[in-house]
Amino acid sequence: MRLTNTFVKTLREAPKDETAKNGALLSRAGYIHKEMAGVYDYLPLGLRVIENIKNIIREELNKIGCEEILMSTLQNPEPWEKTGRFADQEVDIWFKTELSSGGIMGLAPTHEEPVTEMMKSYITSYKDLPLYIYQFQTKFRNELRAKSGILRGREFLMKDLYSFHTSEEDLNDFYAKVEEAYHQIFARLGIGDCTYETFASGGIFSKYSHEFQTFLPVGEDTVYYNTDKSIVLNKEVYNDEVLADLGATGESFEEATAAEVGNIFKLKFKYSEPLGLNYNDENNEVKTVYMGCYGIGVSRLMGVIAEKFSDDKGLVWPEVIAPYKYYLVGIGEKGIAEAEKFYSGREDIVLYDDRDKRPGEKFADSELMGLPLRIVISDKTLSENSAEITDRKTGETWRVGLGELFEKF
Ligand code: ATP
Ligand code: MG
Repeated sequence: MRLTNTFVKTLREAPKDETAKNGALLSRAGYIHKEMAGVYDYLPLGLRVIENIKNIIREELNKIGCEEILMSTLQNPEPWEKTGRFADQEVDIWFKTELSSGGIMGLAPTHEEPVTEMMKSYITSYKDLPLYIYQFQTKFRNELRAKSGILRGREFLMKDLYSFHTSEEDLNDFYAKVEEAYHQIFARLGIGDCTYETFASGGIFSKYSHEFQTFLPVGEDTVYYNTDKSIVLNKEVYNDEVLADLGATGESFEEATAAEVGNIFKLKFKYSEPLGLNYNDENNEVKTVYMGCYGIGVSRLMGVIAEKFSDDKGLVWPEVIAPYKYYLVGIGEKGIAEAEKFYSGREDIVLYDDRDKRPGEKFADSELMGLPLRIVISDKTLSENSAEITDRKTGETWRVGLGELFEKF
C-alpha cells in the first residue's frame, strides 16, 4: 500500500474522550476510527490486523475439524423466549428494535439460541454427530462501561464455536482439543507467555468453566495465581473451598489484573433441552444433544495486543499480525527511484511512505504505526550500495546490501 493512495492519516491527538491507551494509539496510528463510546470503525490497516488474527484462529480451528459459517445478526425473539433470555430483566445488554409492522427483533449479543434452533434442521440421528461449527460475527451488547477502547465494545467481533455431541465423554474429548487449540492460538499471536487458562464460575458438570485471561494492567478482571502460575483463578471462585478442591491449600496466591480473551464452556443440555435439539440413537430412542460453546474476543484481542506491544513512540506489532511487514522510505531522487523498484511486486507486504514529507515525520509515523521493520533507501545508503533496516521492537539498525534486499526481503 502507498500512503498517497490511502485516506489513512496519522493523527497528532487521539479523540478527546478516548481514555484507553489501545483506543488512543490505534486511532492516532490510523487503524480505527471512533464513532462513539464503545463503537469503532476498522480502517484499512486495522482491518488487516483483524483479518490476520482471524486467520490464525481459523487455521487452528480447522485443524481440529471445525467448520465455518456466518449466522444472522437480527434475532427472532422466539428461541430466546424459550430459554428465558429475551427479557431485559434476565439479559440487560440487549439492543432491540420494534418493527413498524408490529413485533420486535433483537441484535445478537451471542448465538447459543439461534445456533441450537438452526441445528434442529440438520441433526436428526446419531450419525449426524459430532459437529463443530464456528463463525466470526459482530455481536451487539449495550455494555454499561464502554471506556476501555476496543477492549469493550458495544459492537464487537467475536469468534464463537459451538459443538454438538452424543455423550459427555465425546464433549470432554473435544473440549480438551479446543483447550489445546486455544493455547496454540494465543502462542501464535505472541501472548502465550502472559495468557493463562483460569478456573471461572458457571460450570455445569463441574464447579468451573474456563477462561483465557491475558495479564494486563488495564484488564477489567482480577485473577489470583500461585507462584509458578500453574493455578490461576478468577476472583469469583477464589475461596478456601475451591483452593482445597484444587489441592492448593497453603500455597500463596498473588493478585493480578487481566483481560478475558476467550472462554470455553460445557453447556451440556442448557440450550438443547429447552429448545428441543434431539437425535435418534442407535436404538432409535430420542436423546438430547450435548453441547459446548467456545468464544474468543477477536477485536478485544487486537486491543490487548496493542496495549501489550507498544512503547512511548507507538505500536509494536508482532510480525504475524502486523498489517504489513515493512515500512519503506525513500530519500533523495535516487533513493526514491530505488524504493519504487523495491515496492513494485511487494504491494502486499510493504507500506510505502511515498508522501511528500520530511524524513523525520515519516520516521515518527513508522514508529507510531508499528510495522516490524523499516527500510530506508537514501542517496547515502546507495553510495554504499545498501539499504538501512531498523527493527521496531529492538530499535536496532543495520545495513543490508541491495542485492540481498531485493532477493531476501
Ligand atoms: P466479559 O466478562 O469481559 O464481559 P463475557 O463473559 O461477557 O466477557 P462472552 O459472552 O463469553 O464474554 O464472550 C466471549 C468473548 O468475547 C469474551 O471472552 C471476550 O473476549 C469477548 N467479549 C465479550 N464482551 C465483549 C465486549 N463488550 N467487547 C469486546 N469483546 C468482548
Ligand atoms: Mg460481558
